[in-house]
Amino acid sequence: MDNQAESSSPETNKTPKSQSSMTSASVIVAFAVQCNNCYQWRKIATEEQFEDFRCNQTADPFVCNKLPGFTCEKPADISVDSSQVWVMDKPNIPKTPNGFKRITTLRGNYSKVDVQYLTPDGKKIRGTPGMVSYLQEHPEYNHLSLSDFCYEAPKIVRDTVPKHALKNPADRSRRRKKRSKS
Ligand SMILES: [Zn+2]
Repeated sequence: MDNQAESSSPETNKTPKSQSSMTSASVIVAFAVQCNNCYQWRKIATEEQFEDFRCNQTADPFVCNKLPGFTCEKPADISVDSSQVWVMDKPNIPKTPNGFKRITTLRGNYSKVDVQYLTPDGKKIRGTPGMVSYLQEHPEYNHLSLSDFCYEAPKIVRDTVPKHALKNPADRSRRRKKRSKS
């Protein structure tokens, strides 16, 4: 018997179609997608390839043999566990337009992921209103529209967040007094 299914967190088993990126100290260090057939996770080498799979997730779900040399029989090369913090992207996020970069940053307290787009001229656009004005001010991108961008933040997989970070921060600061004599 193998235990591949158990190596994914319960959360990921609920959403077999989602893709994930793994973050460490708020920087994404790896990308992975889950096979729609065997539910194993496969590491994806580049962000571009990851985005290709992510934007087609409903129309063309990922399966292992889309990766050269892989089949569902091959054991998972990564699992969603607490060795890294994982964030789970929504499916079908549009592929980032040429020259732009979608940046996701995990907040230091693990409360939230922020999404920004870096424009070809180096501006960081933090939300839809900013993108509306950017596109208006840059007619060279009039082939793009808001639907080419997605500010929906990925979901943090709670089971992979370090336990100390899950405690209520307010509670922690109240308890910081020395307690050696009590
Ligand atoms: Zn598979």
